[in-house]
Amino acid sequence: IASHLVAYYFTELHHDQVQKVDKFLYHLRLSEENLMDVSMRFRREMDKGLGRDTNPTAAVKMLPTYVRSTPDGTESGDFLALDLGGTNFRVLLVKVSANGKQTVEIENQIYVIPETLMRGSGSELFDHIAECLANFLDKLNIKDKKLPLGFTFSFPCQQTKLDESFLVTWTKGFRASGVEGKDVVGLLRKAIRKRGDFDIDIVAVINDTVGTMMTCGYDDHHCEIGLIVGTGTNACYMEEMRNLELVEGDEGRMCVNMEWGAFGDDGALDDLRTDFDREIDAGSLNPGKQLFEKMISGMYMGELVRIILVKMTKEGQLFQGRTTPQLLATGHFKTSYVSAIENVKDKEGLCYAEQTLRDLGLEPSEEDCVAVQRVCQIVSTRAAHLCAASLAAVLRQIRDNKALDRLRTTVGVDGSVYKNHPVFARRLHKMVRRLVPDCDVRFLRSEDGSGKGAAMVTAVAYRLAKQHIE
Ligand code: BGC
Ligand code: MG
Repeated sequence: IASHLVAYYFTELHHDQVQKVDKFLYHLRLSEENLMDVSMRFRREMDKGLGRDTNPTAAVKMLPTYVRSTPDGTESGDFLALDLGGTNFRVLLVKVSANGKQTVEIENQIYVIPETLMRGSGSELFDHIAECLANFLDKLNIKDKKLPLGFTFSFPCQQTKLDESFLVTWTKGFRASGVEGKDVVGLLRKAIRKRGDFDIDIVAVINDTVGTMMTCGYDDHHCEIGLIVGTGTNACYMEEMRNLELVEGDEGRMCVNMEWGAFGDDGALDDLRTDFDREIDAGSLNPGKQLFEKMISGMYMGELVRIILVKMTKEGQLFQGRTTPQLLATGHFKTSYVSAIENVKDKEGLCYAEQTLRDLGLEPSEEDCVAVQRVCQIVSTRAAHLCAASLAAVLRQIRDNKALDRLRTTVGVDGSVYKNHPVFARRLHKMVRRLVPDCDVRFLRSEDGSGKGAAMVTAVAYRLAKQHIE
């Protein structure tokens, strides 16, 4: 039917399919007014997280990172970086060069973390991380060097200093026991010491959002926000110390890891969440947590589409009411399918929809393909627009901090959804500009923020430490 789809795309029937889905998913289609309201709510959540008395009960934790300055370009040296919590677990060797604005990845190795380790015992997980590190050092023949290491650990952590970081709660696909409440640097040091075959100097633990902001800040000194829309979603930004009631001191700024994925965990978004969102949450590893993240990020987007398709089919709106075991199986509709089906050239997207649905054992009609494409569009648009709403609140906060009428700023961005989805970024940018017309926002794609960023933070910490001694 592929060739027919091309012609079909412009027919009235096509229009009818779109309308049918739009009606079915009415509650997922948020108006600009809805989004402005979400943005205002998020701004209040930020205040709550920043306040000393309100923080303990705040859903959005606004965690201090102890990162106070962005790179100034004088950093240099070789650094190891660990990246845990994104799509891949990686070990990197990064060279930061002195006079140029250069960070070069010398080596970048992906290691697999089996699901049994992600959800098994914490000590086994950290033993595995130490083993991968040993393998990496062996391979590069640098096991005898005690190199400084930056650890990108992309989960909510309470930090008291740069190299101490207590896991608040696991998110995404992780649930290893005995780690929540513990200092992950301590756990890693212990696992390395236990082996006894190498030594490293763990200098900094950072969130991936912070790494993203840092790598972009190297190229653009206006960069004061880091955003991730990947497996999970989150953002950080530079906040005035005087507003950070949880940290001593009023001078200067500090980067705050907002952990915005937890927005709504106190019920603040209940009126916007749908039955589909509730079903995603109920079937997740962390029910009741990261409710905003579950409406947005890549770990859940495909599954959200699948749940909707099942519901529509059961109500006789798709595939002549016939489901298949594959369609009914959790996780069988990947987020990458959403990206492919929404291909900018709609007809290619439709062909892909047809193929995907056939692979799920279905026999889609032309109408079905159009409807499925529309479902994908609605789910990913809502995700982009919700991100825009929270980001708009951050932009207003920074503008107010600086008492400016117009703010000019840069957001460093990374993550598989932002980078791989054909139109997610464009929709996000457009909605941000509508929600905060008085900000000139530049979006800068980070080039491996979670890898190079950890090396950057480590390099800055090294430079500052040297200054203190001198
Ligand atoms: C984590 C954040 C992280 C985000 C993006 C969330 O699940 O809680 O710490 O920044 O995912 O990786
Ligand atoms: Mg990452």
